[in-house]
Amino acid sequence: MHHISIHPTLDSGFKATDADFAGGTLVCDCASNPVRVRVTGDIAHNHACGCTKCWKPTDAVFSVVAVAPTEKLDVLENGDKLVIVDPLALIQRHACKDCGVHMYGPVERDHPFEGLSFVHPERFEEAGWAKPGFAAFVSSIIESGYDPKGMESVRARLRELGMEPYDCLNPGLMDYIATWTAKRQAAGTP
Ligand SMILES: [Zn+2]
Ligand SMILES: [Zn+2]
Repeated sequence: MHHISIHPTLDSGFKATDADFAGGTLVCDCASNPVRVRVTGDIAHNHACGCTKCWKPTDAVFSVVAVAPTEKLDVLENGDKLVIVDPLALIQRHACKDCGVHMYGPVERDHPFEGLSFVHPERFEEAGWAKPGFAAFVSSIIESGYDPKGMESVRARLRELGMEPYDCLNPGLMDYIATWTAKRQAAGTP
């Protein structure tokens, strides 16, 4: 089963999570003048994502993506190279226009994730960030061309790596979103 590739960082065995990880610097893939974004503090909800929108390295089937409070992010260098991938999307993914790596994606709209930014921890210069805890939007890898016949093996491999596969977000985050919506409805705000 080990021939099933999920993501280079995860396929090769993942370094132990450092409980003291307190953020670091995300760096894009440019050999010169890379974009550097400082994250002050730890990331949360790290997971593998099968959607078609998240940035992933070549040969990766899933992205690895987490969130951090947007107010904890600072673009340190070469921010002029950042462009917003899709200005209409909920997640305002800021990509390096030269190498294509997504550096951070804030949610600025009225939404349960407002105030959070999506980041790809594999771009940290530092080691020790939390291991992905689950896999989201697993069925969506078919939209990127994955053979539907291989899905059972992919889900088995994700479980083997300790990431329960879901076809949306995990129950904790789905409950969080639904709670936000229910409170809104109770308050009479559409
Ligand atoms: Zn770059
Ligand atoms: Zn995604």
